[in-house]
Amino acid sequence: MSRYTDANCKLCRREGQKLFLKGERCYSSKCAIERRNYAPGQHGQARKKQSDYGMQLREKQKAKRFYGIQETQFRNLFDKAAKKSGKTGENLMILLETRLDNVVFRLGFAASRKEARQLVTHGHFTVNGKKANIPSMEVKAGDVIKVKEKSTSSPKFKEIKEMSITVPSWMTVDVDKLEGKVVAMPRREDIDTPIAEHLIVELYSK
Ligand code: SF4
Repeated sequence: MSRYTDANCKLCRREGQKLFLKGERCYSSKCAIERRNYAPGQHGQARKKQSDYGMQLREKQKAKRFYGIQETQFRNLFDKAAKKSGKTGENLMILLETRLDNVVFRLGFAASRKEARQLVTHGHFTVNGKKANIPSMEVKAGDVIKVKEKSTSSPKFKEIKEMSITVPSWMTVDVDKLEGKVVAMPRREDIDTPIAEHLIVELYSK
């Protein structure tokens, strides 16, 4: 029998939807959401009416978990989004999406954001030819993200070279070269992460 108790899967069950935290497993029938789509714990199956505050809080938790970000970092990102012109919620989503770890994941160079974060931290990538090992680095339009020459012979990246990868419209990928480019900054409609960011704005505006 497959394991249901994985901590990552519990996060998805708590949010009632897939957060894609475990790579290939998330796309298989072993995914805990496919099999037990209710909150973990003794009262997980009980129906609960959520307050406005509860909904706002859940949405923020979901966004943090999706992108694998801690509270302080998330709050800092929100403050940065609020200072930019335009809608704060949309700015927040764009800032989350253009983090280097997320970009590596979107380029198909990692099976999950968690793995992308590890690969970045371990120094497997360059941005515009320079070493880039900070997962939270903000990537800009025109930036070229590349697997470091030394890392291209690792089994992980050799395997990726055999894959056919589809990337969002705001980036391009050259799998042979293990290289991707951010051709334009994403707009909110380019980001498929199912977050109702207005709830996060409401939460932090209290
Ligand atoms: Fe677990 Fe991935 Fe399914 Fe989430 S989406 S429950 S992390 S297998």
